[in-house]
Amino acid sequence: MRRSRGLTTVRPHGMIPPWIEAMPQTDFDNAPTKSGVVPEGPEIRRAADKIGKALVGKVVEGGTWPFPSLQQADSLILGQEVLSVTSRAKAMLIRFSSGYTMYSHNQLYGRWTVHLKATDPRSNRSLRAEFLTDKHAVRLWSATDIVLLPTPEENGHPFLARLGPDVLDESITKDDLLTHLKSKGVWRKKGATLMLDQRSFAGLGNYLRSEILHMAGVHPDDRPCDLDEDTLERWASCIKSVTVQAYEHSGITVDLDTAKSSKARGEPRRMWRHAVFCRNDRPCLTCGNLVVRVRYGGRRLDYCPTCQPARRDS
Ligand SMILES: [Zn+2]
Repeated sequence: MRRSRGLTTVRPHGMIPPWIEAMPQTDFDNAPTKSGVVPEGPEIRRAADKIGKALVGKVVEGGTWPFPSLQQADSLILGQEVLSVTSRAKAMLIRFSSGYTMYSHNQLYGRWTVHLKATDPRSNRSLRAEFLTDKHAVRLWSATDIVLLPTPEENGHPFLARLGPDVLDESITKDDLLTHLKSKGVWRKKGATLMLDQRSFAGLGNYLRSEILHMAGVHPDDRPCDLDEDTLERWASCIKSVTVQAYEHSGITVDLDTAKSSKARGEPRRMWRHAVFCRNDRPCLTCGNLVVRVRYGGRRLDYCPTCQPARRDS
């Protein structure tokens, strides 16, 4: 089925080696996982894929929608076909043949589940929305940021309207990202700020910030205007490649051989997945010098001062 350009719904992941610990198969919890990882764009997109596999092309045969903003669900969702399920930054978008979209954002407490219809979901959480197809039950729990809106008006939603280019959007190329790095409002902002601000680059988050800056060799205090063209091109390329790598491989940002070696040394999951994030006070995998932890606005950032030398003059 053809979906709107650039907004992926269901697509196969790369082959995941069995030694990689998979994400939970049914729960997509936006709260930090046991390993302390807060889901970022790649994790939300994987959740959208999973929900899409159960819903896309199916008619919503039943369900309940107890949340106040879903009062029109019986006419706009029930009996309608699900056309696509996708994500933008950390928002989930489910589009129906009625011409309406359900927008939801899990904040820190919402959770999606996918079960076979006969399975008892057993949750103490508050049910917000339930979609029943011939086979599956897809449910949203606890979230409070949910609206139904006409699909053509999606981009006018206050959250979506403020987003920068969505890094995981297939129509956004590294050249687009390079152009964006040079644009007004971005050109003079620090890397540490840009790699977390959804209005600059949608879908990035804390682990991706450290990993992208390291892979690109960009110091967190450097701004696009401090850098030469080669470094800017590398930065743009890494914004795309590191995020796509994380999406395709369950949040692993290093190549799989590197991850395997780190895991074989007995490193915990939060460390072997990355090149610098959560590897502070340990040797950099690239140069052997120690990775340093700093904080920006209370959020941790790990980087290698050798691989990421400051280029800013002032
Ligand atoms: Zn290094």
